[in-house]
Amino acid sequence: MNTLEQLPFDNTYTRLPDVFFERVMPTGFPETHLVSFNPGAGELIDLDPDQAKRPEFHQAFGGKQLLPGSDPIAMLYAGHQFGHYVPQLGDGRAILLGEVRNSRGEKWDLQLKGAGMTRFSRDGDGRAVLRSTIREYLCGEAMHGLGIPTTRSLCIIGGDEGVLRERPEPGAMLIRMAPTHVRFGSFEVFFYRRQQEHLKTLADYVVAEHFPEWIDDDAKYRRFLAEIARRTGVMIAHWQAVGWAHGVMNTDNMSILGLTLDYGPYGFMNDFNPGFIPNHSDHQGRYSFQNQPDIGYWNVRAIAQALSPLVEESDLAGAPELYEETMLKTYAELMQAKLGLQETHEGDDKLRRDLFAQMHSNHVDYTNFFRALGNFKQDDPGANAEIRDQFLDREGFDWWAERYQARLKAERSVDAERKVRMDHCNPKYILRNYLAQVAIQRATEQQDYSEIDRLLELLRHPFDDQPEMNEYATPPPDWGKHIVVSCSS
Ligand code: AMP
Ligand code: MG
Repeated sequence: MNTLEQLPFDNTYTRLPDVFFERVMPTGFPETHLVSFNPGAGELIDLDPDQAKRPEFHQAFGGKQLLPGSDPIAMLYAGHQFGHYVPQLGDGRAILLGEVRNSRGEKWDLQLKGAGMTRFSRDGDGRAVLRSTIREYLCGEAMHGLGIPTTRSLCIIGGDEGVLRERPEPGAMLIRMAPTHVRFGSFEVFFYRRQQEHLKTLADYVVAEHFPEWIDDDAKYRRFLAEIARRTGVMIAHWQAVGWAHGVMNTDNMSILGLTLDYGPYGFMNDFNPGFIPNHSDHQGRYSFQNQPDIGYWNVRAIAQALSPLVEESDLAGAPELYEETMLKTYAELMQAKLGLQETHEGDDKLRRDLFAQMHSNHVDYTNFFRALGNFKQDDPGANAEIRDQFLDREGFDWWAERYQARLKAERSVDAERKVRMDHCNPKYILRNYLAQVAIQRATEQQDYSEIDRLLELLRHPFDDQPEMNEYATPPPDWGKHIVVSCSS
């Protein structure tokens, strides 16, 4: 186990040419304090959890004091925002403190978000508010608990200075962790600048660091592109299956490792609604829930284009196709599992579509429906009241349930066994906006951070029945149905 000072930094990104980043010191708050520490992420860098109790911890991860071996940089990238290319973005408020190699040889970026201005800050102040920091911190871990590829969250450090948004709000910083923060936009910037040598340097870097088995492979760039496409497909299939929308799927928020990256105005659906738009500023609904698979395709085309100087023309077109194939296949598998089906029969797609239509028109809670469906009894309709009562149109549900029952019989499904399987893939607990909002209110108004830790612990085990936490599985109360979240805060 490492102390803070023993963290073994190996800052590979800083060994790239200077154009890839800006060396920049974090701007700490005058006073800092620990808001929350996540021991689960600490393990990834072999960090002794007791270290979080030291004042040096919040000083180091609040940007006030550098750890030995840290070499802070802001990374350059560009990206397509809402379909339009923006030639320069970059880390405007995040600073990569360095990369730590753990005892298993894995490397983890320690990125400090809200660390002050950089060359890439444009009109921003380089800061993050406590509210949005809590949302990102919790959701990274909630997604991880759900088995969805994502960045991780190490800690939140609070500052004593207010940050001005619509009104002054408490400021904070987050340590976000990922094997790399390289994004689609990290490549796009060099493609559009026509700097092919840098494009190649970056591709070689990523292959060497993350796919070393391909270093000597003539097809390494093609493989790399295909892997991005495949992983993006897997990631988005998981989002769709769990009923989650990212909110800002710009190419600068798309990880080349297929990790869910940059938690802003995201949301888990409550009632099933394909048109769900979590981002209040997304007036056109470009990034609505149902558009995500298509946007994934659009984004994979963008990364394919960015890599076009390195990959044969004939191989480029294959990337979006591979993305689509992977996404559809993974999604179908995940949904079969959510329905408790082990075989694939003709008509399964229709069964699912009909269910969705019923759920939509009846405003049925997506998460709670699937969780309850695990209790479905094939031969005792009376026992299915808990599920049936979620639908206003009971007959509509009966019509579907009859076909579901027949489908279960067709594969000789055993109720008790199916329930065990379904409980492993239909979460009981998700990070509903209103749950995060309660934690945010207590933190910002009363400096009471206990609810953050409670949610963190709960969401580590979203599939476990935790009877004492039952109230956390309820759909939002009226006040929590229309919480507004929008871009950068
Ligand atoms: P996001 O919407 O968080 O993905 O951010 C898009 C771009 O805006 C990135 O280049 C960010 O670094 C930058 N940005 C967002 N918020 C701020 C801020 N408060 N200060 C400086 N840059 C920011
Ligand atoms: Mg971003």
